[in-house]
Amino acid sequence: MEPQADLKMQEFTSYPMEDVLIDLLNSLSAVKELSELQCVSDNEVSLIRKALSVLIENQDMERCSFFQLLDNGILKNVTGISVFEQSNTRQSPTSRQFKIGEGIIGLAAATRKLQHCHDSADDSRIFLGEGIEKSKLPGSIISAPVCTIGNELIGVLNVSHPDPYYFSDWHIRLLEIYKNILGQLIGNFRLFQQMEKQIQLRTEKLESAYQDITRLKDHYEAMSMQDQLTGLNNRRYFFQQIEMTLAGYFRYGQPLCLLFLDIDHFKLINDNYGHIFGDQVLVDVAASLKSEVRKTDVLARYGGEEFVIIFTNTPCDRGLQFAERIRERIGQLTWGHDALQVTISIGLFCLSSEDSYTSKLDFNIDSIIHCADLALYKAKKEGRNRVVLFAENMLENADK
Ligand code: GH3
Ligand code: MG
Ligand code: MG
Repeated sequence: MEPQADLKMQEFTSYPMEDVLIDLLNSLSAVKELSELQCVSDNEVSLIRKALSVLIENQDMERCSFFQLLDNGILKNVTGISVFEQSNTRQSPTSRQFKIGEGIIGLAAATRKLQHCHDSADDSRIFLGEGIEKSKLPGSIISAPVCTIGNELIGVLNVSHPDPYYFSDWHIRLLEIYKNILGQLIGNFRLFQQMEKQIQLRTEKLESAYQDITRLKDHYEAMSMQDQLTGLNNRRYFFQQIEMTLAGYFRYGQPLCLLFLDIDHFKLINDNYGHIFGDQVLVDVAASLKSEVRKTDVLARYGGEEFVIIFTNTPCDRGLQFAERIRERIGQLTWGHDALQVTISIGLFCLSSEDSYTSKLDFNIDSIIHCADLALYKAKKEGRNRVVLFAENMLENADK
């Protein structure tokens, strides 16, 4: 220890007990407050600044500042606070920076050992740099390296006082503890930031995976509701829709018409012209049906050469008109050189609150499909190429 420092130590040890206790309490307060700082902060510099203000509020230092080690190996003054400043006002840091090994700050970084300068006017470690006058330097300076638990250098904590030979062993010991806690704090903050970034990255990945899954699900759902040949919705879709349409009838009394359509003698078309030709007929009939129904209606390929239509919110007389029009349109389609034509039979079942069905028909999906089917059966039986409206007596005949 240098003679002057020794002197200072003697001064210190000859402090009255009360002053020693006050110093001890202040030091403990600084350590306690520092350990209570949350590593959850907006940014690293504001966290360091909070830590510096804890130090300056509890200790008799004039100024303390932090030189952060940058990626390019430079120690840059990122924040600083002096006893004259309000701890809550931000003071821009000085533009001072050092290379590792340069000056007392650079030396603290290079050696990873705390550097204590008792008198800057007479210390060979001091590096003045451009435009810095020796007389402007504080008398006493302590530069303490700040490292993570893994001993990775983060920067250098620099504290100063205008008087030379000001700092005692007491300050040194406190700063040794303080710099370790500060290192842990910044290390934790960096870890926390990394974790947040990783969590955000993973969340983004999960979100995009979820969107992919949703798209796939929608795609397969749409596919599972679609008939590959005609592009119309399929039977599965029809059953989903009829459920909703029936609910609309029961809840709001909205009338509906259910049509079962079947191409007449379709087997003959396949037999005479081949299956591929038959397929084309199905595709064209489907397209024609699609052009005939409204957007709110439900059209589906029920299976084979059978189609089903629900006219939603449509009373029976209108349903009959629509059905007749559809039958006519299909009958007008032609194929090939021979101008082949097909006809279609339609069984129609209407459900509205004004209906006077007397029998105790339990109107559910199965029963109304059955009714439309009975009407279609009758249309076939009566010679095809016609629309037949369901009537209750068909139930009696069907029972026989
Ligand atoms: P009906 O007037 O009584 O309805 O007579 P139909 O010949 O139309 O009825 P049937 O049920 O005997 O024959 C339907 C034919 O439809 C039999 C089947 O091979 C054919 N079929 C079913 N699905 C397809 C398909 O996707 N493509 C083709 N080309 N034919 C199909
Ligand atoms: Mg059929
Ligand atoms: Mg048929």
